[in-house]
Amino acid sequence: MDLGISGKKALVCAASKGLGFGCAQALAAEGVDLLLNARTPGPLRQAAKGLRDRFGVTVQEVAADITSESGRAEVLAALGGKADILVNNAGGPPPGMWTDWAREDFIGAVDGNMLTPIALIQALVPGMMERGWGRVVNITSMAVKAPIPVLGLSNAARAGLTGFVAGTSRQVAAKGVSINNLLPGLHATDRAAALDAGAAQAAGITPQKARSQRETTIPAGRYGTAEEFGAMCAFLCSDKAGFIIGQNILLDGGQVNATL
Ligand code: NAP
Repeated sequence: MDLGISGKKALVCAASKGLGFGCAQALAAEGVDLLLNARTPGPLRQAAKGLRDRFGVTVQEVAADITSESGRAEVLAALGGKADILVNNAGGPPPGMWTDWAREDFIGAVDGNMLTPIALIQALVPGMMERGWGRVVNITSMAVKAPIPVLGLSNAARAGLTGFVAGTSRQVAAKGVSINNLLPGLHATDRAAALDAGAAQAAGITPQKARSQRETTIPAGRYGTAEEFGAMCAFLCSDKAGFIIGQNILLDGGQVNATL
């Protein structure tokens, strides 16, 4: 299927590895030019070079913390304030215990996983509306549908973004802009490995054992891959997806046990 987005320009945040990189790779394979962002310059440079060499698309890189105002300003300046596609992503908040979190912990989570994507939507969607075409995909979490107790900061901040997208996506749809959320369940990335290590330590077992225990909770019997995740992201960013508005699309191997 030709996704009809060759020559478009995408900002993919937090994309030197993991799910963000999966999205960037799938868009590059469709001929989309990219601006890739992550904080650490070395891996970002390597990721950008790999995509350029493999797919022949233009790839800009901006090493910056996307959750900071100055980082976002740097990224937006490099884009000239314009992109056709925005993939919002950032690191997730740390796990913990609800009794331990202070106000600053909540502010950090809300800043990173709610207010940052909203700020980028506010910066880039007006231009998309003027041009009559745009796509926004927010990487959130399965936790939006089925809370993960140790990730209370994530549950809270991502629920806030989900509410914002539900209303805003319907305000911009008539101008050719689709905003949707992609909800990852467990995917084999460094983030998942870190959570496995935490679970392993708490239970006194090996990280591999913790992973296989978690895999048994997934009907597909395995973790997802960044490639699978990227393919769905590219479809939501495609010309074919203009009638998909304000949806929360779960990619979890069936882990959330719900009919709808
Ligand atoms: P990952 O493998 O750890 O990759 C994170 C990427 O984001 C890296 O490129 C990292 O590079 C970049 N990054 C992190 N914080 C950033 C910041 N403040 N500014 C710019 N770039 C930043 O993580 P992942 O598994 O792909 O997870 C992506 C998102 O999905 C996270 O929010 C995570 O909570 C969520 N999620 C993941 C899973 C899963 O199973 N993997 C499940 C549910 C939800 P630098 O460190 O160099 O900045």
